[in-house]
Amino acid sequence: MSLKIYLNGEFVDKEKAIVSVYDHGYLYGDGTFEGIRAYKGCIFALREHIVRLYNSAKTLMIDMPMTIEEMERQVAKTLVVNNFEDAYIRLVVSRGSGDLGLDPRKCPNKPTIVIISDKIKLYPDEFYQRGLEVVTASTRRTPVDSFNGKVKSLNYLNNIMARIEANNNGVGEAIMLNHQGYVVECSADNIFIVKNNELITPAPYLGLLEGITRNSIIKVARSLGITVKEEVFTIHDVYNADEVFLTGSGAEVVAVVRADKRMIANGIPGQMTKTLRENFIQYACSYGYKLSDLPAEDMKNAKAMAAK
Ligand code: PMP
Repeated sequence: MSLKIYLNGEFVDKEKAIVSVYDHGYLYGDGTFEGIRAYKGCIFALREHIVRLYNSAKTLMIDMPMTIEEMERQVAKTLVVNNFEDAYIRLVVSRGSGDLGLDPRKCPNKPTIVIISDKIKLYPDEFYQRGLEVVTASTRRTPVDSFNGKVKSLNYLNNIMARIEANNNGVGEAIMLNHQGYVVECSADNIFIVKNNELITPAPYLGLLEGITRNSIIKVARSLGITVKEEVFTIHDVYNADEVFLTGSGAEVVAVVRADKRMIANGIPGQMTKTLRENFIQYACSYGYKLSDLPAEDMKNAKAMAAK
């Protein structure tokens, strides 16, 4: 059976989920998106993801055609329509169709809204057990005075250039620095280091995407009594950390055991990383939008579509 995709108010078969080549998301990367996970029927931190999406849209001056609550229901319905309890959800909002110029005023229609629920596995299991090797990218993260990394925009070329550097070096991720040489994040993940039993992650003003997983790890760590600091540090601090790990909706929590050919501590995932990963997964299964909370009428419609 074909996957059903939400496209501008309708659920359509994957093969028919087609967007115009005049869409400014395609022509200019003009839009915003979210990557969200559902665990056992609980869409983890859905409200936080949707709020981040709406904040990005506000900065980009894209008028969202529905309320946050309505958007949450559509995301939840996309899972029910596809009979998913565990999924990776991609929510994409683009400026919509316009002419060939970049002027957003030439996109008179509503934004294009797409919700895809599917499966994704960023790294094989052994990477979670043994940890990841990374390099420092020569590509610097876009400075906040050019474009704020807090906006999860459809233009990911800055990150993709770093990803290409990781690929060229045969490693799993690339650490990105800002123009002053401070560690900001990775191409698609936030970064944490552990030093003397304290957890340190770059401060948001450095220009990173303020990850929902990052913020949840901070919450989980503090609830376990761990001191968490959001501050600046350099690649030297990464090399000499007791533990290093990355976080993201796709990657979840994954240890880093080598950076630029330097072994981190003894080269195996550390205890705090393991504890936080376990506690995070537990938290993610219970914190968020439960599919069982979908209003009865929406649930009935979605189930009817699923049965087709
Ligand atoms: N930084 C970047 C650049 C990202 O693309 C992502 C999302 N993959 C993250 C950090 C992690 O954010 P989140 O935890 O919200 O997925």
